[in-house]
Amino acid sequence: TTIGQALRLTTERHGGRDAIVSVFQRQALSYAGLDLAADLVAGALLARGIRPGDRVAIWSANRIEWLIAHHGAVRIGAIVVTVNPAFRNEELAYILEDSGARLLFAAPGFRSFSFTAAVAAVRPRLPALETVVVFGDDAPEGMESWTGFLDRDADPAAVRAAEAAVAADDPCSLQYTSGTTGRPKGALLTHRNILNNGYFVGLRQHLGPKDRICLPVPFFHCFGVVLGGLAALVHGSALVLPGESFDPIETLAAIAAERCTALYGVPMMFIALQGHPEFGRHDLSTLRTGCMGAAPCPLKTMTDAVERMHMRQITVVYGMTETSPISFQSLSSDDLETRISTVGAIQPHLEAKVVDPVTGRTVERGQRGELCVRGYSVMRGYWQRPEATAEAIDAEGWMHSGDLAVMDGRGYVQIVGRLKDTIIRGGENVYPREIEEFLLTLAPVAEAYVFGLPDERYGEEVCAWIRLRPGAETDAEALRELCRGRIATYKIPRSIRFVEAFPATASGKVQKFRMREEELALRG
Ligand code: ATP
Ligand code: MG
Repeated sequence: TTIGQALRLTTERHGGRDAIVSVFQRQALSYAGLDLAADLVAGALLARGIRPGDRVAIWSANRIEWLIAHHGAVRIGAIVVTVNPAFRNEELAYILEDSGARLLFAAPGFRSFSFTAAVAAVRPRLPALETVVVFGDDAPEGMESWTGFLDRDADPAAVRAAEAAVAADDPCSLQYTSGTTGRPKGALLTHRNILNNGYFVGLRQHLGPKDRICLPVPFFHCFGVVLGGLAALVHGSALVLPGESFDPIETLAAIAAERCTALYGVPMMFIALQGHPEFGRHDLSTLRTGCMGAAPCPLKTMTDAVERMHMRQITVVYGMTETSPISFQSLSSDDLETRISTVGAIQPHLEAKVVDPVTGRTVERGQRGELCVRGYSVMRGYWQRPEATAEAIDAEGWMHSGDLAVMDGRGYVQIVGRLKDTIIRGGENVYPREIEEFLLTLAPVAEAYVFGLPDERYGEEVCAWIRLRPGAETDAEALRELCRGRIATYKIPRSIRFVEAFPATASGKVQKFRMREEELALRG
């Protein structure tokens, strides 16, 4: 099945139901409405000469138009390139040039930053970019407005013919990785990859036509578009967009007003909601399930989601852009302990193994190693980077995740951290994740991230950035005192910095490489 066929099917079955409700735009669209709008976009794209395999980029924060543009483009076999709304001129130019996009859908801007001005500035460097369509009724010189674009006479027969020529194994998405560890890489994904992944992720949450998913995570990332957009599509559920980007109050209000049954988020979002002064003022009792993932999920945050947010069937999701994205997820039958302490079990039709990063041999259950995944969801490859692809996917088809994991006897996996993040202090392996979990149990600590810094004597030293609870008063030495006798001395952070916020990607993933850079710069 292609994504276009899936939308037709859901429209037949649940055409009258909400596909998407955008609270901040005060707008909603049924599946029948989404299907119709996607046809208009598809027709307009064909009229502009867009053909199967052409790249069509979308640069916008979460809005209804994002989803419509996406469905219109994939329906006729185009490849959607999703662009992070936090990007500025150089990053935009990089992604449009790298992907060779012929057409760009852009929001007028995001917050105070003008997208149209940025596009105009970089356009001379982008000969492949023929058409720019700006969401809304107006567009600057040389660009088209969304309403004008859709208004052209489309040829329904041409859309049907183009749609029929699309195959499930055709690529439909050029999805860039988050950039948590460096420059984002483009992963080429097919209809089969991402539509099936959306289906299985929804299955473990028992999503159905009555579910309403609150989605504060961005569409440009696979968390938003696959776990949100496509899971909702195949299970006939509705998406609720609280705002253009994550805001705790908008999210709490949207859950209550729209009676959402599911909530998605990265751990940082759940932490922000649970600690918000307005938390108790909104009725969250309709919540039942949802997804937390994309980064390590602290035990306390998961427990609070279950106990204080009614999300008894919340699932932890683990994956990576390169595997469309999810490979591990909690099962609905998991007890609370398993649910909060592991990333669950492998998804259907995928295989996993944990290998010694040096020898490549599978390690014993219970031992640490690099997690590898194989099966239908593995990407075609990195866009125009055959060497990087060959490094990531081995000759037997295993995608090497770069993540350290432990698999237990039942096949449940714990993510220990990223291979690259492991600190080697005086020959001893130190796993930041373990120290972070410990620091979070200390009363004054609200949020903590641990990473390694070069050290003359030990090779690397343990450094922590910490955000304290409001009103908490302490200093580095007092915190270290709380650690003494409870964790091994070599794990106690030698340098501690207190901050109010952490460098993060637009999807809310904390970027340790930036903290490290900042520490190094401060040290000269
Ligand atoms: P880049 O590859 O550009 O540096 P990234 O790896 O963060 O960025 P994504 O593909 O969005 O880009 O994220 C995948 C990574 O996120 C995984 O490799 C893993 O390190 C982390 N991750 C995802 N889910 C979880 C989870 N539930 N627990 C711990 N880590 C997770
Ligand atoms: Mg990665």
